[in-house]
Amino acid sequence: MIVRGAGRASQRRRAAAALLTLTALLTLAALAGAPAAGAAGRCGSHPWCETSLPPSQRAALLLGALTLKERVGLLAGDEPSGIGGAAGTHTGTSDGVPRVDLPTFFQTDGPIGVRSGKATALPASIGLAATFDRRLAGRAGALVGNEARLKGNDLAYAPTVNILRTPLWGRAFESLGEDPYLTSRMAVSYIRSLQRQGVIADVKHFAANNQEGRRVGGETVGSRFTVNAEVDERTLREIYLPAFEAAVKDADVGSVMCSYNRLNGPHACASRPLLHDVLRRDWGFRGLVLADYGASKTVAAGLAAGLDYEPWPFLDSDGGENYTPESVEAALDRGDVDRRDVDRAVRHTLRTLFASGFFDRRAYDPDEAAIDRVAHRRSSQRIAERAAVLLRNRDGALPLDDPKLDSLAVIGADADRYVNGGGSSNIDPYTFTSVRDGIATRAGDAGIDVSYDAGDDPAQAAAVAAAADVAVVVVADAASEGVDKPCLGLDCGAEPIGGVEVDRDALIAAVAAANPRTIVVLETAGPVLTPWRNDVNAILETWYPGMAAGPAVASVLFGDADPSGRLPATFPRREADLPTSGRPERYPGVAGDVDYSEGVLVGYRWFDRRNIEPAYPFGFGLSYTRFGLGGLQVRPTGSGRAAARVSVRVRNRGDRSGRAVPQIYVHLPGAPGRVQPPRQLKAFASVGLRPGATKRVSFHLDRRDFSYWDSTRDRWRVAPGCYRIELGTSSRDIVARRSIALGGGSCRRR
Ligand code: BGC
Repeated sequence: MIVRGAGRASQRRRAAAALLTLTALLTLAALAGAPAAGAAGRCGSHPWCETSLPPSQRAALLLGALTLKERVGLLAGDEPSGIGGAAGTHTGTSDGVPRVDLPTFFQTDGPIGVRSGKATALPASIGLAATFDRRLAGRAGALVGNEARLKGNDLAYAPTVNILRTPLWGRAFESLGEDPYLTSRMAVSYIRSLQRQGVIADVKHFAANNQEGRRVGGETVGSRFTVNAEVDERTLREIYLPAFEAAVKDADVGSVMCSYNRLNGPHACASRPLLHDVLRRDWGFRGLVLADYGASKTVAAGLAAGLDYEPWPFLDSDGGENYTPESVEAALDRGDVDRRDVDRAVRHTLRTLFASGFFDRRAYDPDEAAIDRVAHRRSSQRIAERAAVLLRNRDGALPLDDPKLDSLAVIGADADRYVNGGGSSNIDPYTFTSVRDGIATRAGDAGIDVSYDAGDDPAQAAAVAAAADVAVVVVADAASEGVDKPCLGLDCGAEPIGGVEVDRDALIAAVAAANPRTIVVLETAGPVLTPWRNDVNAILETWYPGMAAGPAVASVLFGDADPSGRLPATFPRREADLPTSGRPERYPGVAGDVDYSEGVLVGYRWFDRRNIEPAYPFGFGLSYTRFGLGGLQVRPTGSGRAAARVSVRVRNRGDRSGRAVPQIYVHLPGAPGRVQPPRQLKAFASVGLRPGATKRVSFHLDRRDFSYWDSTRDRWRVAPGCYRIELGTSSRDIVARRSIALGGGSCRRR
């Protein structure tokens, strides 16, 4: 805990200079109970320590006690090396001000786990989204919050809520999919549970950070560090901002991380329209805005726009100027920065800390031994089981609980390694069980012989597969923060495994030709191409399943768990079907600009509106049992208010337990110049049902669910017209529809 002096600062900068750049670090990484109640506070006996005062007043009092030098010192973090993720470190550290008992403030990466030494590795966030289960999102948030706290952190950089605009995005695995409603609801549960652990959540990356950039030769085209996302206001409000808005309004998130990219001109971290007008004025955000690592641009623009804190002032991602004391003081001397902006930024940080209880409890001293690793591993496994999406199951190939089954071949080196995404979400797991080992254990219990082949020689793999009753081919893709996938095939961008190039599509084809009962297990960051899908019996998408990959995948394959995941993103048949394909101005951008001209037609909205048949649609996923969905009732509620109570009946018609995921889509009336997608997800539930059981499930649709963003009036609006409410098992399987007239419109055909 120090107030930064010039000597220490320059020493630290030397240390920083010795570090690899952030991107290099990330590339390296690619390869490769509640807080103590009533604990004594550490505030001291200052006026701002009076806990009956509101946080804003306490912050104002403390601010008043700080010198200008001390205030300036609180604008930037102080630790360059935590980003390496080593045990005992923190991704970010802000030294406090000992003179006034302002303690050091520690931050860590999320969202898939805590990045400081070994930790519980959850399945990738896209898998969490695939569960369509808010309770599981809460379980993940609580787990990350708990480990963050027990590793001594006050804040976690999680969750990532950027929309999956293109499945080529290097951080697809870290997203919650392509739909703003699903992303919002999962993020809200995650954040609430994380913050309940006494840790501040940091929702990221605000905003329109939807690509890393495409590598062409030595260059990155459309790099996240420099690219300018050109997004019209309606598209921003309806697609790219709702999850941040929900985090602020519904989860009271403590902090927001602004992103590297530019948005309609200014860099996100220097954008007053974004950080002030939208976030604070429109949404009422009262927390702390912090910069992604290297995302601050100029001190003057950042402070004027509303960037409060830069945790890592050690990288200029784009020749920018950091919030170092030297830079801030120089900017103050030049008159470029208003002292009131410095005060406002520090007040936001202090208010957030007061509101979170930071001053009124003991420091979170690291206590790794208190982490319940066994329970956390169980949670990781449970989420992985529930995340698995069964895309195909011909002739009941799965589950493998067939008493006649004597032998099984596991094919593919991906079955034998920890598959995860690279970058700041690359978690080093406490323990790991591979899919190969998980299958071997479970099959062994059932008296089934298991053989294995790495698959580097498809002919040899085919021979091993042919000798077994069933062949399970396990294939993964490669994805990392820092760079997008060059194409959508399984092998696009993949490193050779153990030095051997593997053609995964050819491997699957060879095995499928050799064994009529071939099952493909996918471990991918998001949608991939599946050209062999009609030649195999079953396909199980398990995303990056985390530390308990083996038991989780085995339990779904053998039917101990029902595959209850549904796709949070559309799987296209061809890459050319994507809205960005063949449109370089849309992706990866031309001359530094990316044009989001597909507007609100993202993901299934695009496929539905254009009538393009996907390989597997949004919301789709099979079960081992059969469900009957029906009894759709829609009751408008309130007089003159656009709101409705919707209920549906869900029945398990099969002879196994399973989870149905009824989905409610709404079609909003369009108008010339206002394209509306055929349907938009507005409610969902994951409903566990025993064989023969029936449940009625209710949903509430509010005014916002029927609203579009009216850019001319700058507000949400319910257009007069007829609204179609649909019940579906996916965006392409609509089983019932009702219409209601709203806003003075009518549903009569003209
Ligand atoms: C990532 C953030 C992450 C930060 C610290 C950045 O490159 O974009 O998501 O929190 O690094 O590791």
